[in-house]
Amino acid sequence: MHNVTLIPGDGTGPELTSSVVKIFEAAGAPINWEIREAGLKTFEESGSVLPEDVLTSIRRNKVALKGPLTTPIGEGFRSVNVALRKKLDLFANLRPARSYPGVPSRYENIDLVVVRENMEDLYAGIEHMVGEDAAESIKIITRKGSTRIVRFAFDYARAHKRRKVTVVHKANIMKCTDGLFLDVAREIAGEYPDIEFEDRIVDNMSMQLVKKPELYDVMVMPNLYGDILSDICAGLVGGLGVAPGANLGTDIAVFEPVHGSAPKYAGLDKVNPTATILSAVMMLFHLGEEETAQKIQAALAAVLAEGKDVTYDLGGTAATSEMTAAIIKKMK
Ligand code: NAD
Repeated sequence: MHNVTLIPGDGTGPELTSSVVKIFEAAGAPINWEIREAGLKTFEESGSVLPEDVLTSIRRNKVALKGPLTTPIGEGFRSVNVALRKKLDLFANLRPARSYPGVPSRYENIDLVVVRENMEDLYAGIEHMVGEDAAESIKIITRKGSTRIVRFAFDYARAHKRRKVTVVHKANIMKCTDGLFLDVAREIAGEYPDIEFEDRIVDNMSMQLVKKPELYDVMVMPNLYGDILSDICAGLVGGLGVAPGANLGTDIAVFEPVHGSAPKYAGLDKVNPTATILSAVMMLFHLGEEETAQKIQAALAAVLAEGKDVTYDLGGTAATSEMTAAIIKKMK
């Protein structure tokens, strides 16, 4: 049995994580869930979006599955997602984007992985007003942060038998910050002669991904570009409803879908559980539960391929709970 912290999250988070809990139970996944609340709910109750017991539970279990958490725009508390990643030193954000037959999208056979640096860049949140009519935000890139994320990308590529790593940057303009990231990437690439290496400027990369996504494989980049390009990659394979993710540190891993809390659909039993299920499947692989992971993935892929019991964003009319039931039926 693996003890895993489960954060149901805000908005549609609870219905999505509940879909995973049901599927895991049906698949006989050896998981003991330790449920911990965070986000809007605990903020209203105790004034804290990230209570200490959530962190204690994740530090003890080393593995968590997390529903999305709402962050108010422009005002209110700072992102609880950013705080969680910082407090647990989850420096790598892994976002695979893979085509599944039956999922409507403009491309077939996409298999891309975005490795996003998760701690630095403009997400350091060091910003302030300069007088009343100007504002300043500071972009932080360090050799240490760049080294460990680029090394992570190459190690991932090697372990998963991928052919190429592309580093994405804007070093032509930000010669110090992105320049440092690129220098570190070039240096580390030399240690991995078995893996092809190239660099792309982020604007060109965005266009290339839309025009010729098949040219790319694993991509590594600073935080902000990773945030944006991983949504582009999600769009290439059918949207946010099917995009999973993981936040990884040296010994702690928190799995979560790329999408947010989709608050307008909260409680309507409507949104697509695929991204959360695929994040949970990544978690099972991480825990070494490969057989169960493959079983769930195959059942989900079969339901997607049939296209009958799928949610609105995939062109279907099924509720979250109906799609979940269809996946469970496929495993029997
Ligand atoms: P969102 O991802 O919640 O929604 C974007 C669009 O995608 C909406 O049209 C939504 O309905 C749709 N969508 C999202 N998930 C879906 C699913 N599973 N199935 C079908 N459609 C889906 O992004 P947003 O509206 O920009 O953000 C809402 C809230 O989520 C904000 O408070 C934001 O800060 C938060 N957020 C949290 C995380 C996280 O917890 N990691 C990530 C992104 C955004």
